[in-house]
Amino acid sequence: MRRRWWYGLLSLLALILSGCGGVQSGQQAVCTAETFTPNYVPRLERLLHWSGFPVSVYFVRDANYTELRQSFALQGFDQWVERSEMKIRYRLVDSQERAQIVVHFDPTTRDGLTEYTFRTNGQLVSATISIGVKGNSAVDIRSVAAHEFGHALGIGGHSDNPEDMMYPTFISGIPLQITERDFNTLKTAYCNLFMEGDASRAIPPDETLLHFTIRCGE
Ligand SMILES: [Zn+2]
Repeated sequence: MRRRWWYGLLSLLALILSGCGGVQSGQQAVCTAETFTPNYVPRLERLLHWSGFPVSVYFVRDANYTELRQSFALQGFDQWVERSEMKIRYRLVDSQERAQIVVHFDPTTRDGLTEYTFRTNGQLVSATISIGVKGNSAVDIRSVAAHEFGHALGIGGHSDNPEDMMYPTFISGIPLQITERDFNTLKTAYCNLFMEGDASRAIPPDETLLHFTIRCGE
């Protein structure tokens, strides 16, 4: 009886330390909407993830490509890299075939768009980001790129708080910043990267591919 009491106490301690509601001793921890708060996980249509980092990124060299636009876009992507202390990171590749995330610029709009292919277990296979560059504003290209990269990293939906980077619309000329809610939402998708200890995700093998598109802006 004495022994059972100790096990009970240890399980309770493990539960408190893990920070994951509902996780019992001996099971793998999986992050829920209660793990990293505040967040907007419950509002999302999907919360997806890449199997590991760095993810490979390719910028399409079409008529809308310029090195300057790429450098502004990368400054946007880098906001996530810096905020995650390099746990989230990417590498540039020189061919579309070798890329997990393909990026191109669209001069007909200021808004962005992200398309995904993913498995039913939530693991991303590929993503395509379109960054609106109408107006050619460095601030806006950076902001739209950061927002769309947030989608491409797995945030499948939008925040309902206008202060968050992942709110669907933005005000031209005002730089978007990653908020605590934005970052906690992303962290929930990468439990194994952002939690101490054995927090690896149990992912059943799954070959079914699904597609999903997020349109941003009006
Ligand atoms: Zn969006």
